[in-house]
Amino acid sequence: ASLGDLDGSVPPPRRTQDRRSATALASTNGFHNSPDTDPALPANREWARDILQRVPTSTLGEATVAANTVGSEAEVDNVIGAALAAGSSWGAMSGSQRAEVLHRAGSALEKRRADLIEVMAAETGKTLDQSDPEVSEAVDFAHYYAELARELDAVDGAVFEPSRLTVVTPPWNFPVAIPAGSTLGALAAGSSVIIKPAQQARRCGAVMVEALWEAGVPRDALRLVNMANPALGETLIADHRIDRVNLTGAFETAEKFRAFRHDLPLLAETSGKNAIIVTPSADLDLAVRDVVSSAFGHAGQKCSAASLVILVGSVSRSRRFHDQLLDAVRSLPVGYPTDPTVRMGPIIAPAEGKLLRGLTTLAPRERWVVTPRRRDDSGRLWTPGVRAGVQRGSDFHLTEFFGPVLGIMTAHTLQEAIDMQNEVDYGLTAGLHSLDRQELSLWLDQVQAGNLYVNRGTTGAIVRRQPFGGWKKSAIGAGAKAGGPNYLIGLGRWRSAPSAA
Ligand code: GLU
Repeated sequence: ASLGDLDGSVPPPRRTQDRRSATALASTNGFHNSPDTDPALPANREWARDILQRVPTSTLGEATVAANTVGSEAEVDNVIGAALAAGSSWGAMSGSQRAEVLHRAGSALEKRRADLIEVMAAETGKTLDQSDPEVSEAVDFAHYYAELARELDAVDGAVFEPSRLTVVTPPWNFPVAIPAGSTLGALAAGSSVIIKPAQQARRCGAVMVEALWEAGVPRDALRLVNMANPALGETLIADHRIDRVNLTGAFETAEKFRAFRHDLPLLAETSGKNAIIVTPSADLDLAVRDVVSSAFGHAGQKCSAASLVILVGSVSRSRRFHDQLLDAVRSLPVGYPTDPTVRMGPIIAPAEGKLLRGLTTLAPRERWVVTPRRRDDSGRLWTPGVRAGVQRGSDFHLTEFFGPVLGIMTAHTLQEAIDMQNEVDYGLTAGLHSLDRQELSLWLDQVQAGNLYVNRGTTGAIVRRQPFGGWKKSAIGAGAKAGGPNYLIGLGRWRSAPSAA
């Protein structure tokens, strides 16, 4: 099958707004975060409308491409063999040589911004406000890891020995940035990569990989595979020639992976159940904005999403805060991503199981303050829901539902709120809205999560500024954070250099 008319021929949009590089922080080492498309410019809005008009609503979310499908154990074996053979020349290049290829990969991804936005909408229902920054993030990973690769050459008396072969199994919810980041990181370190895109997002994976090939990553050092059946996925990760498996997905998937192979060298970013605390000292307008975007961006389908807000003391009784929050939720434009003004798109598949429970079932003492409703017969389009009265230790407090539902909890003190925030098994992101320094230090001393956000939403970590990774059940393997300075180090080891004669 082909990728159709995704040829990158759409002229690049005009992007003058550069919120990502507003401070000097992101421009050291020659690295500079790439800007998102500025929707305030009419030319950009037209550009976006053209892209999204190409997305067929009727087949939205149907996986289409079955190219590169591996159908037998012998084929899996071949793919691994070829990747290992190619890996030796890729790994033997200097970090600076690989950096050049990776910088070109960043440009190639940027050139395909329109295609990537289109396939994200078509396959996963991702809306423009989410998919455009996701492309920026993928581009950032390329340029950032390129700079880290250069640094690998610069350590006196030591040589970096990369893992030889990395398998990347990304999720469907970030179908471009996460596969790109995991792949580019491993490539930067000098490992070759076999990537198996999420089955709901095969075209996204394919377009991303094509960009990297086009930039000069050798086709054998970067292999793309889709499995004809799940058993072949097990064959792949059970193979002892693989040095590392980089998984982003549900905690249960990581457990399954380890069941196939108990000694699997797994680096995994898994589930989250994240909360934002709002104290009486907070800027409540800002808190409303950040809670809403963290809970309902991409319809809540992010490990980083905040599906709980914990209101401290007088905030829990504040009419103004409640009215504003509920108003903001009710006025979110819900729809399909073919409309560039939509802010909450469909969920990936008709709600069932746990998510359906989250959208329909209340526990004792809970009540809907905004009731989630099915918007059409697809089972995929829902309006957002907010439940109040979530009790400590309840299902909604502790379980990740991965959908457009926010729960409100209340606490008498900040200490009580922190205890509630920490009570979950996961520890991916955590938020605090407060303008009080003492509150801030109390929180920082105790909060248990990999990514901490103060007076900001809990989603959308930006490469280099907010290296991303979890704690507790949100992370497996001694991995450094993605988009942070130590990421490549985890993908190989240092050896003493032979001393110069
Ligand atoms: N890196 C993403 C963010 O900061 C989250 C990734 C995930 O949900 O798996 O929002």
